[in-house]
Amino acid sequence: MSKWIPKQARNTIPRPVLMNAVYMGRCSCGSVIRIGDNIYFDKHATRVVRCKQCGLREAQLGADGLVLQQRTGELQRIIDRTKQLKMLPRPLSSSAKDELSQLISTLKTEFIETPEVVKFSMELGRRRFPTADFYISLVDDIACCALCGSNFKGGTKVLFARSIQETVCLGCPLEFEDVY
Ligand SMILES: [Zn+2]
Ligand SMILES: [Zn+2]
Repeated sequence: MSKWIPKQARNTIPRPVLMNAVYMGRCSCGSVIRIGDNIYFDKHATRVVRCKQCGLREAQLGADGLVLQQRTGELQRIIDRTKQLKMLPRPLSSSAKDELSQLISTLKTEFIETPEVVKFSMELGRRRFPTADFYISLVDDIACCALCGSNFKGGTKVLFARSIQETVCLGCPLEFEDVY
């Protein structure tokens, strides 16, 4: 009898599976994952680790509305936690620093187009550069971010500093130190 495990067929949709964590980590809801904890892990598609509660919720709440509601709750938790970490006295411990950069990268990659994140980012931008007069704009030509240098294609949603006529990524203000 062959001991080879057949490769996953190309046309099957992989799903997160319940397993025991072999590494420490953190779910996007903020829960710490310890070695041995039950987690949901999507090995083939997203490679995202979820705590048991989040994994169960995602598995059970298949209906779009409920998923959306849960995402909004998750997003609010991420924003609140990001604010908390930003308010901590500097220098941050290395674990707090790691957590903060992970949260910011989640906001920038998964949630950047949501009104909540745009609002949060704009608040930080206004606090850091009160006279910049930021507003949301669409790039109408090729441009690049005045802060990180990324190039924008026409039609990209950005923050535009009216006072200095500079364009900034929607998410760049999330990285500002010492503003919250
Ligand atoms: Zn979780
Ligand atoms: Zn940028």
